[in-house]
Amino acid sequence: MDIVPVEKLFTVFNETAMILKEEMDCTYLEALAETGENIFQEAILQENLSEYTAKKIKKSYESISLDAYSKEEIRKSFQLAILKGMQENVQANHQMTPDSIGMLIGYLVQKFYTQTTMRLLDLAVGTGNLLTTVINHQPEKQIEAFGVEIDELLLQLAYINANLQEQPIQFYNQDSLEKLFIDPVDIVVSDLPVGYYPNDIGASEYSLQADNGHSYAHHLFLEQSINHLKAGGYAFCMVPNGLFESEQAGKLHQFFKEEVYIQSILQLPLSLFKNKQAAKSILVLQKKGETIKAPKQVLLAKVPNLSNIASMEKTLSQIDVWIKENKLV
Ligand code: SAM
Repeated sequence: MDIVPVEKLFTVFNETAMILKEEMDCTYLEALAETGENIFQEAILQENLSEYTAKKIKKSYESISLDAYSKEEIRKSFQLAILKGMQENVQANHQMTPDSIGMLIGYLVQKFYTQTTMRLLDLAVGTGNLLTTVINHQPEKQIEAFGVEIDELLLQLAYINANLQEQPIQFYNQDSLEKLFIDPVDIVVSDLPVGYYPNDIGASEYSLQADNGHSYAHHLFLEQSINHLKAGGYAFCMVPNGLFESEQAGKLHQFFKEEVYIQSILQLPLSLFKNKQAAKSILVLQKKGETIKAPKQVLLAKVPNLSNIASMEKTLSQIDVWIKENKLV
């Protein structure tokens, strides 16, 4: 991909967000949402801006035409601006899913699911970066996509991100562990929030609630994801490396045994995470159904550093071989 268009578009997002941040006395991310909406609506929607400011941002908007950019170029430049805003106030569980992981999940979805129409759900959609990366990697499919997120600002950014990329995603601003009004889907992708779920009453609706104290949110998210899959549907979830070793893992093993076939566990390179405790794997599950069979063996692999092209190609061909032998595409 040509880097110049991404830089050019980022510059417009960035400079107009900085101007609005100053003028509206808000955070960079709030200002980014405002400017993204302006660009999408082709208007300046904020009242009370000084004439000078309005002129300045209008000039910046006029220097670009969204039609000239691909969806991936738009996503990447918006992502750069979000990353900048996230550095302003860092919240561990709000981190956007990095590009490289989104692309790998996009690749996996394409290989595992070969039908031409797809219902796709992300229960922790955040800024929409993972979900839209996955969508952009299935150009030949007709996709109906859904995203759920508890944080209003992140969801607003996701909504603008999707609009700018012309991705018709349906968004819900709610706690994903409460009742969802979304019919079963073919594919779930999700970079799960890791930690305790504070709502014990809500957790009591789940088989994976803890016997004592707070339940693990990531366990409940896995259960909710599986509940929303069609029989034979796949979930591609980023989970902590120690998922199967925690003190609450016993119930998870039992639940998986009843509901899904584990397809693959791909351990992501440690270099992508702050420390060993924060490191994650991609867990691939298939929901059981009458005609669904277990894979001959589970694909276990360590994903190499994603910038090491030769090792990465080796891992991708290992995945391809496994799919041929186990999924009979
Ligand atoms: N994939 C996202 C992206 O590319 O921006 C990032 C996902 S981030 C690791 C996890 C997200 O889960 C956060 O945005 C967080 O606000 C959200 N989250 C945490 N608890 C939630 C809940 N109970 N319901 C809905 N979303 C929740």
